[in-house]
Amino acid sequence: MATVRGPEDRWAWVEIDLGAVKRNVRALKKCLGRNVELMCAVKADAYGHGAVRCAQAMLQAGANQLAVATVHEGVELREAGIEAPILMLNECPMPAVDTLVAYDIMPSIYTFDFGLVYGERAAAAGKVGKYHLAIDTGMSRIGVLPVDVVDFRHGLDFHRGLECAGTFTHFATADDVDSWDFQLQANRFVDAVTAIHNAGLETGLVHCDNTPGMILHPRAQFDMCRAGIGLYGLHPADSTRGVVRLEPVMSVRGRVTRVVRPPVGAGVGYGMTYRVPKQGVQIATVPIGYADGLSRSLSNNMDVIVNGVRARQAGRICMDQFMIAVEPDGPRGYRPKKLVEVGDVVTLIGDDGNEEITADEMAELRNTINYEVTCNFGMRLQKVYV
Ligand SMILES: *Cc1c(COP(=O)(O)O)cnc(C)c1O
Repeated sequence: MATVRGPEDRWAWVEIDLGAVKRNVRALKKCLGRNVELMCAVKADAYGHGAVRCAQAMLQAGANQLAVATVHEGVELREAGIEAPILMLNECPMPAVDTLVAYDIMPSIYTFDFGLVYGERAAAAGKVGKYHLAIDTGMSRIGVLPVDVVDFRHGLDFHRGLECAGTFTHFATADDVDSWDFQLQANRFVDAVTAIHNAGLETGLVHCDNTPGMILHPRAQFDMCRAGIGLYGLHPADSTRGVVRLEPVMSVRGRVTRVVRPPVGAGVGYGMTYRVPKQGVQIATVPIGYADGLSRSLSNNMDVIVNGVRARQAGRICMDQFMIAVEPDGPRGYRPKKLVEVGDVVTLIGDDGNEEITADEMAELRNTINYEVTCNFGMRLQKVYV
């Protein structure tokens, strides 16, 4: 466990290991072919890890471009002084076009209306409106349909204010190496890019791979790959685990704020869904709750690590706090080495001694994916960079 003390004003925090971010960037870059650029997805505050600090670390480690989901996210990076190209992966609302132009944030374009307004506003500002063309090859989320791509480009290209800096698609099943759906999307993408070239138009950087794609399908790397989850040291699927070594970046910790030893039968938390089962059980309170991203669905169904040993979470998780039950002779052989005291560090994600709880473990208990787990912990907890 790191020796981080956490913030002064709250006994709860997330630790972000920027060294691990850089090592993950380098590990992922080793998966890339020569001259393939790396675009880093730092949307959702870098999957809950803190966008500005993570983006700076990624660029220092050799990343080329950044990707965000909202205008605000792009503005935040620019206001921190980041100058790398930034692509917005989602539709930009029309009223925010001038902000995109002012901050040099490239939109993903797939509608005429937006493309023309963006070109107009860029020209009015005396700029070239760089954009990436999004193609929907099968995910049915955003993008121009492959059959319409050439017409769409012809329709936009008369506009002098615009420059196509990239052409991309997104895979729905990149983690499944042998899937027919993946092959179909890849083929449609290649055909669409070829059609654009054959029409005598520039594609800009061609890109389609996300983290699993760049690891498992090197042939689809083209000019650039868009990494997200791998940068944060997490695997998108079991299929990538054996191929590249990644280090988790986020740990989530709090400190015990209160300890009691209630009598047998005493209830814990709303609804008293946990009852003290035997004598000597310590009930300890930790000031982290569902408003911090600790899903209430984990109530009575997750472990934490305290003093190097696992303990069970007990009772319903509250908005800002939860309780744990440290039993003298715990379930599944969790035997505390010492009594829990106020101020002891409690680890929700991360390691302590020989124990580790991963975002994957928590994701499985929640019936979701590691992406959602880290995004959620980014909501309110203060980030401590190490
Ligand atoms: C988030 C995102 C990525 C990154 O995906 P990971 O699975 O996290 O690597 C790539 N491309 C697009 C369009 C995205 O929205």
